[in-house]
Amino acid sequence: MTHEVELKCPYCQQRSTEWVDDDFDDMRQKCDECGKVFLYRVEVSVDVYSRKAPCLNGEPHSLTERHAKVVDGKVMGYNRCRVCDQRFELSDERKQEILKESK
Ligand SMILES: [Zn+2]
Ligand SMILES: [Zn+2]
Repeated sequence: MTHEVELKCPYCQQRSTEWVDDDFDDMRQKCDECGKVFLYRVEVSVDVYSRKAPCLNGEPHSLTERHAKVVDGKVMGYNRCRVCDQRFELSDERKQEILKESK
């Protein structure tokens, strides 16, 4: 994977933007400003964010209807939970409603 990073020359502090590869070896860069060669290394950090998921702990899912429409007499679409991203089939009642609305 390539990343756009800002490199800072350790000699003159000149900053430059470079595209670099993930590579754990030291790499060389010549500073445009002072002409010195320095080494740099790319470290990729992984951030993890956790959040509450009430619907996975007994509360109802927060469903929103997605892409509900009728194609060739068949009801398409599904319900998606805004919290956990699970998809659910539309209820038969809702399908009937959508069919009626489309007529
Ligand atoms: Zn420099
Ligand atoms: Zn959910």
